[in-house]
This record gives sequence, C-alpha cells and structure tokens, in this order.
Amino acid sequence: MFDSLSDRLGGVFDRLRGRGALTEADVRAAMREVRVALLEADVALPVARDFVDQVTEKAIGHNVLRSVTPGQQVVKIVSDALTEMLGSDQSDLLLDVTPPAVVMMVGLQGSGKTTTAAKIAKRLKEKDRKKVLMASLDVNRPAAQEQLATLGTQTEVATLPIVAGQRPVEIASRAMQAAKLQGYDVLILDTAGRLHVDQALMDEMKAIADVSNPAEILLIVDSLTGQDAVNVAQSFSDQVPLTGVVLTRLDGDARGGAALSMRAVTGKPIKFAGTGEKLDALEAFHPQRIAGRILGMGDVVSLVEKAAESIQAEDAERMAAKLAKGQFDMNDLRGQLAQMRRMGGLGALAGMIPGMKKAQAAMASGAVDEKILVHMDAMIGSMTVKERAKPALINAKRKIRIAKGSGTTVQEVNKLLKMHLEMSNAMKKIRKMGGLKGLLGMMG
Ligand code: GDP
Repeated sequence: MFDSLSDRLGGVFDRLRGRGALTEADVRAAMREVRVALLEADVALPVARDFVDQVTEKAIGHNVLRSVTPGQQVVKIVSDALTEMLGSDQSDLLLDVTPPAVVMMVGLQGSGKTTTAAKIAKRLKEKDRKKVLMASLDVNRPAAQEQLATLGTQTEVATLPIVAGQRPVEIASRAMQAAKLQGYDVLILDTAGRLHVDQALMDEMKAIADVSNPAEILLIVDSLTGQDAVNVAQSFSDQVPLTGVVLTRLDGDARGGAALSMRAVTGKPIKFAGTGEKLDALEAFHPQRIAGRILGMGDVVSLVEKAAESIQAEDAERMAAKLAKGQFDMNDLRGQLAQMRRMGGLGALAGMIPGMKKAQAAMASGAVDEKILVHMDAMIGSMTVKERAKPALINAKRKIRIAKGSGTTVQEVNKLLKMHLEMSNAMKKIRKMGGLKGLLGMMG
C-alpha cells in the first residue's frame, strides 16, 4: 500500500538528505515535488495545499536551515505533518458503556461492511475476550442476512436468528433485547447499503441509531474509490453522528489518497484498515506507523527511542563518522555488542532496523543471550589488531587460533564473522537512510 507515494517521497528526501546545506529555494523546490506526489496519490487538493504550506513554513525556519542536518530536519517535519494528516492518535473502539455496547456499521453496498462486521467481531472476541452478537438489518439484499450468519459460523460469533418480514428498526430492537437478555458485551449491527447516498438510506440510519443508541457508528468505505470515498464520508458525517471510519481494501491501494485526506476532510478518525479478504485481515490504524511506512523508514521511531536511551552522544558521532566512510570493523562490532548488552539483547533491536532481520537470523536463535555476547567479546579479544580492522584476513588457520584463544569453536567464529558481514551490510543500508546521526536527528 502507498507504494507509489512512498517511492516519490523517497526520491525527494534522498536528494534533501544528500546535501550538507539547504537554502530556502531548495526547500521550496522539494515541497513542490511533495505537492505533486500527494496529488498523484489522489489526495484532495485543499488537503495537499494546506499540508505543503504548513510544512514549508516550518521547514524554512532559521533553526532548521542552520542546523547540522537540515535535510534530516525537513524529513522529520514532513513525517510529523503526515502523522497529523492521518490523525494524530490511534483511536480504539470506545465500548465502555453499559452492555451491550452497540457498534453500528454503515456504508454503501459493496464497501466491505458485512465482511468488516465479522472481522471486528472476531477481533473483539479473540483479542478483547468480549461476548459478541451480530445482527444484519439488511432487508433489501435477499442474501445479506444469510451472508452474515455464514460469517458468524466461520468466526464462531453468534448471530441473531433471522425472522422473515421484519423491518430494520424492528430487527434492531429485537437484537437489543436479545443482547441484553443473553448478556452480550457487544452487539454489532450490520445495516443495509445502497449504491449511492440517498435520503431514504440516511433516514433509515438515523432511525436505527435512535433505537439502538450506538457507542460507535463506523462508516465503512472502499479506499480504492479514492476521493469518492472521502465524499461519501462527508455526506454520511453530515447526517449521521459517525464516530469513525474503516477503510477497506487498503491491500490493493497503491495511492492512498482516501486514507490521506479522510481525517482532514471529515474530521473523523480512521479506526481500522481492511487489508484482505480473510477474516483476520484487519489492522488497527496507527497514523504514526503508517506515516513511517509511507516514508519508508520502518519503525525507526521506536528504534531511535531505544537507541537514544543507551548510546552516548559521542559514540553516536563517532559511529556516524565511521559509517560515512563505509567502515564497520570488529572494533565497532565489539562496541555494538557492549551496547546490546546494555540494551537487553539484539533480539529486541534487530526487529526494528529495516534490513536487520537477516543479522538476527544469522544468530543461533532469535534472541541473543548474555553468554553469546560474552563469547563474541572473547573472540574479538583474541584477534590481532590487524584482524579486527580487516576481518577479511581471517582464514581457516586464523579461525582455529581465535577459537582456541577464546575458548570457543571455529563454528562460533564463523557465526561471528557472518554476523559482522550482515551487520556491515545493514549499516550500509542505514547509511543510505541518512546515517545513525540522521536517525538521531529525526528525534529532533
Ligand atoms: P458489503 O456489501 O458492504 O457488505 O460488502 P461485503 O462485506 O460483502 O464485501 C464485498 C467484497 O469485498 C467481498 O468479496 C469481500 O471479501 C471484499 N472485501 C471486504 N473487505 C476487503 C479488504 O479489506 N480487502 C480486500 N481485498 N477485499 C475486501
């Protein structure tokens, strides 16, 4: 998802980061490119314009342009603005009411409403251990109620028995009563859709909301419909008190325009993203992580937070200088190992660095325990100064000597060498992203 936008912005940022000094004109030129990238991603024009204006104003400030890492600072400003555009905080479902908490699903036909109802039910049941009842109020489409019943069987979530001939509001009242009597925590009401927004549909939604007093009214929209999805959301939110939006088919959405403009246009948070047809393909929508993905930074923020806790500032400077020269020798690895011991093992860290998964796999197990780190330190300690600076020198004979000297085995020496290789490759990747100093710079 967001692939093309991510590529475009990546190009702009690489150019920004590649320069030591930035002028106001450089920033303005970059921001024009950002604007084009957003419009190509199908972001609503006023939203793209506001975004770029706001970022430009911040980015041409003196502190930014005069800072040591101006490119990095600009990227951070864009990243923050993107997070804000997507909605600043991740919003969970608010179901803290006297049970049953009603979740009402609204939206056009084919938007993925029924599927999403089942996905949410499954999630509430499995993750939050809620007792969930689902009811379909769709009496327009002949098979709608059966479809929900089938999904209920698949997810092992109870569905309200179907009674032929009842109107939507009657079904809603019956579902409320059943949920109360049978002690359900949550009642999910799947309403009827239409091909287009029309007044009859809106009136029906309002009548259902009146009898069921929902804790959440979620609008389900298909992200592939881009700005239409945003317009639909606008029409619904004018008439029905929506509490949030679920974007479906984000798995097939390379542009992301709906996701990017939804919050700004409707003021409603995106609560979930549908990412596939399977019933577990539902993700909580974390604006910050999505912004990170769009900017191709992995979960760098968490990584830097963790690193900043234990890496001394001078260490970081020194590492940055080495990285800039493309050097990462055994002495550096030794320093890193010592840091890992302080940080609680490589396992936690490796998952966060893009490209580090491999280094992790090179280790015997996913998590590095204290003993392995101690062994590695001993092996490096048994190397000559030359070997440490140039690990490529270490041939079979030298491996045997190192293993003996450190009380380890040749196999372990091999693992260490492999790890060094993987790590220097990962370091090269980080360097491309602006270096460790750059990463730290991102934290402001
Ligand atoms: P409704 O008319 O709004 O109730 O829509 P449905 O729930 O029946 O969904 C219509 C189609 O979209 C079905 O084939 C679903 O499997 C599919 N669908 C729903 N959500 C997603 C999603 O997030 N990703 C993908 N790829 N397909 C989805």
